[in-house]
Amino acid sequence: MIKFMSLISGSSGNSTLISDGQTHLLIDCGMSGKRLKEKLSCTGVDPQQLSGVLITHEHTDHTCGVGVIARRYGLPVFATEKTFGAMDIGAIDANQINIVVPDTDFVAGTIRVTPFSIPHDAADPVGYSFCISGEKYTVATDIGFMPDKLFSHLAGSDSIILESNHDIEMLRYGSYPYDLKRRILSNVGHMSNDLTAETSLRLADSGTKRIMLAHLSHENNTPDIARITTASMLDREGYSDVELYVADRYDVTAFAV
Ligand SMILES: [Zn+2]
Ligand SMILES: [Zn+2]
Repeated sequence: MIKFMSLISGSSGNSTLISDGQTHLLIDCGMSGKRLKEKLSCTGVDPQQLSGVLITHEHTDHTCGVGVIARRYGLPVFATEKTFGAMDIGAIDANQINIVVPDTDFVAGTIRVTPFSIPHDAADPVGYSFCISGEKYTVATDIGFMPDKLFSHLAGSDSIILESNHDIEMLRYGSYPYDLKRRILSNVGHMSNDLTAETSLRLADSGTKRIMLAHLSHENNTPDIARITTASMLDREGYSDVELYVADRYDVTAFAV
């Protein structure tokens, strides 16, 4: 049974689970080992069964639990070389280190994985897509803008977890300091709801059936605003059959796959 679930999502922590029933991979672990155990308890996957953890980039909302769980469960860790250099996960064994290269497929257990570069203010950030039984699953968050090359990696995903970080007006008129606003709005920041809606439309056009909006800002977005922005775009263009989910900040959100 295939599982594709957001365990937690947002600037307070991110982690995703993908499983084909044999191989159980985490993408990022921005939470404590204890909390991970709690979150996994409602997924049917025991932490002891995890096959590895794939890192998107070094920011602590994606990596703060990685060292602990890698040591505790002896997990292989997958990341780009520069991300390994930039992240602070403490000591792990050399044989747990797996370097990934953007645009170069690899196999983790029984799952084929493609890492791809994303524009974000980190050392060498990536998203991942996974091929299981001919279906494509993608995780793409922490993205400043959507160049064509990046979109080509997302296109054709059957199910995708896609960032929908902020409402531009809420951010602009909100309480964040100027520099932080500028960073979020920059080409190496985060996706606005408008960019997500536009990207979702292109994805629907490429055959995507299920979209989960993720990494929502606590201050500058709400689940309703994020959902409505993308849903109204999809409805207007005749794609109301695309299933839309919003990843919960603190709880497991599963695709009905
Ligand atoms: Zn980040
Ligand atoms: Zn993040």
